[in-house]
Amino acid sequence: MNILITGGAGFIGSHVIEHHLNRGDEVVAVDDLSTGNRSNIRDFERNPRFRFVPSDITDYPELDHAVRAADRIYHLAAVVGMFRVLREPVRVTQVNVCATEHLLETIAAAGHHPQVVIASSSSVYSHCHSRDLREDDELVYLPRQGGLTGYALSKLTNEIQAMAYREEYGLQVTIPRLFNAVGPRQGGNYGFVLPRFIKQALAGETLTVFGDGTQTRSFCDVRDTVAALDLLAGNSEAAGQPVNVGNERETCILDLARLVIERSGSRSEVEFVPFDQAYGASFDQITQRRPVGERLRSLTGFRPRWTLEQTIDDLIDRARGATEQRAA
Ligand code: UDP
Repeated sequence: MNILITGGAGFIGSHVIEHHLNRGDEVVAVDDLSTGNRSNIRDFERNPRFRFVPSDITDYPELDHAVRAADRIYHLAAVVGMFRVLREPVRVTQVNVCATEHLLETIAAAGHHPQVVIASSSSVYSHCHSRDLREDDELVYLPRQGGLTGYALSKLTNEIQAMAYREEYGLQVTIPRLFNAVGPRQGGNYGFVLPRFIKQALAGETLTVFGDGTQTRSFCDVRDTVAALDLLAGNSEAAGQPVNVGNERETCILDLARLVIERSGSRSEVEFVPFDQAYGASFDQITQRRPVGERLRSLTGFRPRWTLEQTIDDLIDRARGATEQRAA
C-alpha cells in the first residue's frame, strides 16, 4: 500500500510510519516540524520505502501528486499540546482548520478515492458531564472553557469538514476521536503528562500534579492507538462517523503520579500545582474523561494490548537506556 501521513514527524505520526513500514508499505510523511521533530523519524530515514517531505501541507506544491499516489492518507498534522494550544490560538485555526480544508479539497479535486483518516480528539466532548463518553453524546461548549475552546472547536470543525466531503464527494473518510495516547517519542514540552512525570521521577524531582490530581484521563498506548487507526481506515463501515479510539481504563492523575514513582522506584514526591499557575487564569480543567469503546469494538474487534503499567515500564526502560548510552 502507498501511505501518505501529514504530521508524520509528530508523536502519533511517527508510530503510524513505523507500523506501515513494518508491514512492507511505502510511506510518504509530510511535516513542517513545528510540533513534530526530525529525531522522531531518524530511524526510518534510511528505509528506501520511506520518504520525508519537510513542508507545511498548504505550501507543498506536490501535494496533489502525493494524494493521487496514495491508497491511504492519515491526516494527523495539528497544533497539539495544552501549553502550545494556549500560547498559539491563531496557529490552531490555521493548521487545524485551514490545512485540513486544503487537504480535503485536494483529495476531492484529484477525483481519486483513497482511504482517509481525519484525526479528531476527545476534546470535542469537552465539558460534557456524563461519566462515560459515547460518540452520540451531546457536545457542549461553555465560555468558561477558556483557551481550550478554540482547539475543541477546531477538532469538531475537522469532523464536520470530513463529513461534508464525504457527503458531497463520496470520500471514504474515518474520524477517530483520539483519547490521550501515550508512549515512546511523546515529549513533555507541550504539557503532556506522562513524559513529564517520567522525566521528573527519573531525575528525582517532584512530580507536578496540576490541581488536586482527582481529574481523570484514559491513557492508551500509542501502539494500540495506531493499530486501531489501521483497522478503522480499512473498514468501509466505519466511514463517515466519529469513533472513540482509546483505552477504557480510567486513571486519576494523582494515581498516575504514584504509579510512575512506584514503577521507577523513585524517591520523588508529589507537588500540587494550582491550575491557574500551570495554564493561566482563564483555564478550566476537564475533570473526567473516559471513552466508551463499544463502537470501535463492534466495527473492528479492537482490544488494546498494552496495560498502563507496561507502557510506563517501557518508557522507563527506554529513558534509562538513553541515559546510559549518553554516559557511555
Ligand atoms: N498534568 C499534570 N501535570 C503535568 C502535566 C499535566 O497534572 O505536569 C495533568 C493535566 O492538568 C491533565 C492531565 O494531566 O489533567 C493530562 O494532561 P495532558 O496535557 O497530558 O492531556 P489532556 O489534558 O489534553 O487530556
